[in-house]
Amino acid sequence: MLSDIEIAQKADMHKITEIAAKLGIQPDELEPYGQYKAKISDTVEKRLAGKPNGKLILVTAINPTPAGEGKTTTTVGLGQAMAKIGKNAAIALREPSLGPVFGVKGGAAGGGYSQVIPMEDINLHFTGDIHAITAANNLLCAMIDNHIQQGNVLDIDTRKIIFKRCLDMNDRALRNLVVGMGGPTNGVPREDHFMITVASEVMAILCLATDIIDLKTRLGRIIIGYSRSGKILYASDLEAQGAMAALLKDALKPNLVQTLENTPCFIHGGPFANIAHGCNSVRATRLALKMADYVITEAGFGSDLGAEKFMDIKCRYAGLTPNAIVLVATIRALKYNGGIPKEKCGEPNVAAMKAGMVNLEAHVDNLKKFGVPVVVAINRFAADSDEEIAALNEFCTKKGVDFALSEVFALGGAGGVDLAAKVVAACEKPNSFRFFYDLDKPVKEKIEAVATGIYGAAKVAYSASADTTIKEIEAMGSGKLPICIAKTQYSLSDDPNKLGRPTGFTVNAANVRLLNGAGFIVVETGEIMTMPGLPAKPSACMIDIDANGNISGLF
Ligand code: ADP
Ligand code: MG
Repeated sequence: MLSDIEIAQKADMHKITEIAAKLGIQPDELEPYGQYKAKISDTVEKRLAGKPNGKLILVTAINPTPAGEGKTTTTVGLGQAMAKIGKNAAIALREPSLGPVFGVKGGAAGGGYSQVIPMEDINLHFTGDIHAITAANNLLCAMIDNHIQQGNVLDIDTRKIIFKRCLDMNDRALRNLVVGMGGPTNGVPREDHFMITVASEVMAILCLATDIIDLKTRLGRIIIGYSRSGKILYASDLEAQGAMAALLKDALKPNLVQTLENTPCFIHGGPFANIAHGCNSVRATRLALKMADYVITEAGFGSDLGAEKFMDIKCRYAGLTPNAIVLVATIRALKYNGGIPKEKCGEPNVAAMKAGMVNLEAHVDNLKKFGVPVVVAINRFAADSDEEIAALNEFCTKKGVDFALSEVFALGGAGGVDLAAKVVAACEKPNSFRFFYDLDKPVKEKIEAVATGIYGAAKVAYSASADTTIKEIEAMGSGKLPICIAKTQYSLSDDPNKLGRPTGFTVNAANVRLLNGAGFIVVETGEIMTMPGLPAKPSACMIDIDANGNISGLF
């Protein structure tokens, strides 16, 4: 089989104007970036405001192996399959970060015959949104350090600045550093830190903002740190929000591209799925729902993280109701959850797969609690044996959950026709969508609701600092915000080694942070990496470009 990039380069790409026309976007509502990418102008939203929404389908997954289980591939493939069964569908995805592209994981534009194109552009800079976020973030940082240099009227405590610089690159050397070195004309020395741009609060804000005014308000609410007397200081204290929003004016507009089979796809925003909510922008999802009868979207990581935050944070803020959930499972991840090392997950092993099935069961049980119909998509890999697939089918039948074998990686939309039909049917089933917790509950009750009800924990333990911060947040009146738990994606627990369906464990709330602009409370379980590093042999070593501008080595 050809590599992802080889398949992508052979695609019959249509002009973006044609793709937009399929969605009813008028020529003057499109802002093309070259011939195959475009931004959608704000006027469309207003024109379509009165139109009813299409059906919203969330794609999520069981706990994965480190290679990823194919949520993006399934999302794209399902969009293509919808077209095959005559439905008007659109896809909504996150923008890939450069960090993983050059690191271990590679691109994030799907795989095989279910990809979004032009994949080179989407994976490398795209329309510059992430760079704009970097610039807006670092403008605020420059204004903080300049304020201190210029006399520090706000009395910013340089030891208590919490807003960090960012860069969209895996660069561990920037995790901890000292800025302002070089004497009085070069700033005031202080410890600083970088995070990867997709982990920045500005990214989360862009993804939740409904319009430019909401964006500006949220940017102004960002907590930058504390004064020496302990007063909370905001970006608005530095009057930074207007310029930050101005830098983001184009980044706030959703981007339109297409799949290998010319299905329209909105790609917009890409917040981390641990310390942020992990799904594309509210604006892109809303826009897609006005233009298509079926909108398929992905949330990062397994359903314990991605789906829960999609519903409790994004849907809550955006007033969205998911009509169906597709739970992606792979035979290799089930074997991994059954205790087989990842190198051996390609070998047939029905017993190990059956042992790992408890993980799938936990995710099905959890998703049912949200009251939305679930369809399990078995993302087929070439190494999967018929015997393993039969055992998985049997499990789903016994469990009474809809399922379909998905071969969209190998076959494109044609490999997802059964899945698409089941998803269409699921959208018509009774739906009693509900959030998992009530915002009015105390912060700890909300954390415990998710930890016990979704992760299966026995209890939550709080560090002294987490305890103090929760009290502070409630005292300042921000306790009614949703919570965003940051933990490993490899386990339902906060320990990546506890595979399958662990019980009796304690979730450790080590650190709590208020993302006041984004509007949620981050609960970090242990050390959460916000600036990844590169591996010994980064993917970057394989990426190349020839004299004709052809890129190779992206995957
Ligand atoms: P996720 O969105 O869950 O992280 P992706 O869809 O990005 O997962 O897939 C992860 C990787 O696995 C990609 O490189 C993709 O090409 C590959 N992949 C996905 N599904 C299959 C499949 N059925 N067979 C082979 N490779 C696959
Ligand atoms: Mg993905």
